[in-house]
Amino acid sequence: MSENPLRFDVQDIREQGGLSVSLDLDAERLLGPQKELAVPEGRIRLEAEFSVGGNTLLLQARLQGAWKLPCRRCLVEHRREYAASLEETYPFTEEHIDIAGCVREAALLELPPWSLCRPDCRGLCPKCGTNLNDRPCSCKPEEPAQFEALRKLKTPKEKQDAEPKT
Ligand SMILES: [Zn+2]
Ligand SMILES: [Zn+2]
Repeated sequence: MSENPLRFDVQDIREQGGLSVSLDLDAERLLGPQKELAVPEGRIRLEAEFSVGGNTLLLQARLQGAWKLPCRRCLVEHRREYAASLEETYPFTEEHIDIAGCVREAALLELPPWSLCRPDCRGLCPKCGTNLNDRPCSCKPEEPAQFEALRKLKTPKEKQDAEPKT
């Protein structure tokens, strides 16, 4: 086994008429630090299958991993699992192929631009910073001034519709 588990000998695969491998990779080592606050977490499970074509090797792979990233509303770090698949072809002219690049790319495509710790996350109180998922705070909800102004702009009919009928 070579040092890089994602490097393969093309001639070997051709002689064997294909190859199937299951790999368990260190996510942080493969993906490195990210510019965002997201962190690659744990292991990446990779199932890769090479088949030999007329003059290319076809790689079909599936990977499963997880990102750890802060919630958009409450900033608490949480885990987001993903599963992805990829397909790539390599010419026989290559002696060795390194599939790390395309595995990395597939994992990065699964990094969401933002994430919520749960769909109904209540977020942080804008006044005291309490995580409202943990407990309610005693701050009074206050409507920001611009909403107040917007409401005054509404036509009388809209206002009527918006107000509960008694
Ligand atoms: Zn949250
Ligand atoms: Zn508060």
